[in-house]
Amino acid sequence: MDNTLQLKAYAKINLGLDVVRKREDGYHEVRMIMQTIKLFDKLTFRLLEEDEIRIKTNLGFLPVNEDNLVYKAVKLIKDKYQIDKGLEIDLFKCIPVAAGMAGGSTDCAAALVGAAKMFGLHLSKQELMELGVKLGADVPYCVLRGTALSEGIGEILTPLPPMPDCYILIAKPSISVSTKFVYENLRANELEQHPDIDGMVEAIKAGSLSGITDRMENVLETVTIPAHPIIEDIKNCMKENGAINSLMSGSGPTVFGIYDSEEKAEQARGIIREKNLAQQVYVVKPFNQNIE
Ligand code: ATP
Repeated sequence: MDNTLQLKAYAKINLGLDVVRKREDGYHEVRMIMQTIKLFDKLTFRLLEEDEIRIKTNLGFLPVNEDNLVYKAVKLIKDKYQIDKGLEIDLFKCIPVAAGMAGGSTDCAAALVGAAKMFGLHLSKQELMELGVKLGADVPYCVLRGTALSEGIGEILTPLPPMPDCYILIAKPSISVSTKFVYENLRANELEQHPDIDGMVEAIKAGSLSGITDRMENVLETVTIPAHPIIEDIKNCMKENGAINSLMSGSGPTVFGIYDSEEKAEQARGIIREKNLAQQVYVVKPFNQNIE
């Protein structure tokens, strides 16, 4: 019997990101337009007779112990359903780390799905999302996938129709940005400008790419860009080279540009690499399929 399973864990970008306010308990209330993109990590699961969680990964600097979100996901399922078998997970990472693309959260979502399958549990998407929120605010979205409005601390999700077809250029400069630093330094209650998230929802429903690109804004840029001006340089470079618009994703430092032609996106990719603005640069498409 084949006792292995392979799943892809897809990254996301934020087409729009607003922070409505900082709550008294310290959490930030957000309104974000999420979009899954065709850039993924691969997880291979193998059932173990021993009661153990073993993680192997191609990135030597990532934790493979209980600090890895994949470990946390498998542990949560094992504990909740009293499973005494174990799992070995081979995590092959392609999504840039600490980049604003929910890399860890999407691995976590895939690990929940994979562990449930490997242990023969029949969990619904809703059940997996409820488990996921215990491990991270973006995890339920990574189970849901596609185009969605995310509210609350990220756990209130409204699925939207798929965004119109386009090419997305992703560029991650070689700096690390901690999500914690960005939120701690955001003056959430003093923001002068807020993105038109409702307008973007309407544009998505109308299938209007220009309606979306006209409204691309991310309030976290007010913290990350002053600390790392290279983000602005990459945004400008994309716009000077055919992007309809460009924006930082999540808390950064990844920048994405929306293109209506693959050729233009590929050309801009070459220029960004040539200028050495970013090392991890990819041309991808939106991805709107369900989690396997
Ligand atoms: P987000 O968009 O949700 O803010 P991110 O892209 O900023 O996510 P991640 O790539 O998820 O950040 O990683 C942040 C930190 O989490 C890393 O520094 C890493 O040590 C830790 N981590 C734990 N598990 C994983 C995982 N499976 N993949 C990547 N990082 C992980």
